[in-house]
Amino acid sequence: MNTDFLPFTRPSIDEATIASVTEVLRSGWITSGPKVQAFESALSVLCGGRPVRAFNSGTAALEVALRLANIQAGDEVITTPLTWVATANVILEVGATPVLVDIDPATRNIDLDRVEAAITARTRAIIPVDLAGLPVDRDRLYAIAHTHQLRVVEDAAQSFGASWKGRPIGSTGDFVAFSFHANKNLTTTEGGALVLPADVDAGLCERLRLQGVQRFPDGGMDVDVLGGKWNLTDVAAAVGLGQLKHLDEFTERRRQLARRYFEKIDPTLGLALPPADFSNSNWHMFQPLLPPGTDRGAFIAAMKDQGIGVGVHYPALHLFSLYRNLGFKAGQFPQAENVGARTVTLPLFPAMEDSDVDRVCQALTNALQR
Ligand SMILES: *Cc1c(COP(=O)(O)O)cnc(C)c1O
Repeated sequence: MNTDFLPFTRPSIDEATIASVTEVLRSGWITSGPKVQAFESALSVLCGGRPVRAFNSGTAALEVALRLANIQAGDEVITTPLTWVATANVILEVGATPVLVDIDPATRNIDLDRVEAAITARTRAIIPVDLAGLPVDRDRLYAIAHTHQLRVVEDAAQSFGASWKGRPIGSTGDFVAFSFHANKNLTTTEGGALVLPADVDAGLCERLRLQGVQRFPDGGMDVDVLGGKWNLTDVAAAVGLGQLKHLDEFTERRRQLARRYFEKIDPTLGLALPPADFSNSNWHMFQPLLPPGTDRGAFIAAMKDQGIGVGVHYPALHLFSLYRNLGFKAGQFPQAENVGARTVTLPLFPAMEDSDVDRVCQALTNALQR
């Protein structure tokens, strides 16, 4: 039996990808160039031919989407408190006001039944988050958005490779932002991408990505808008191109491992298992909730003692000091607070063996029964 430390996630980078990175490093052109363009084209194919632009993070893709949607001071943007804090930070970054709506405990995603009650005359957009790779109901989401004329910026950071009713996430909808952070299902080390809706100027997206600079064929340039420094490098894009070859296989392997968790976790331990979706989700994470009252810190330590890494993704973000200082309070979003306090992320990554799942399940039993 393998007794090495099992982290909660680990990227799978093959030798061909490593060789392609070496090639870029030797080529004389290492920042944004032909590899980024090839990566964007490959992503566009996966997104039904829609325009896609690459970024150096998922956060940058989200922020540029808000800028392209003209979201600014005085505007309200609805999102979930149970997400990586980047989702809400970008709303503040563009000067707008985050309006949080509690989650549906069945999916752990934003509760679409409660979204309409949060819409005001100042609401401009919704940022749904596909937590753990489980897609928010796109039919209901877009029905609400159309009724109230809201823009949607899909935070699909965790759902690259997932689908909604057979259609890949990114192939339909308004703005769709992906992250290729090291821990995501597909990585470029750090990176992200934005799928653009048809009414948006891809040239403006490119300018916002890099200092607002527009270059002319005669060598001149202009800056007409304040842009950031958010371009992906060719080194990173080469990693992404190598990863894309394995996307389907990665997703399939994650599904198999998730199924095995459902079969092997002792049901008497009192864990609340994640929603068992085997058609849409890409199983970015496998997250049971600890039995109420369990000391999570002690549990994580007990797992670590047995060689198993456990993560926490995420505490409800309105409880962070920055958001409390904006007026959010404990007790405001009880469902998100409950999940955020009890959630643990168990190891799940494509290179895991079936026996690794069994090892984790045995360790769970040891940790929770003592
Ligand atoms: C990872 C992540 C982001 C941010 O992506 P980065 O590439 O780390 O900037 C945003 N939202 C969610 C839900 C994420 O998981």
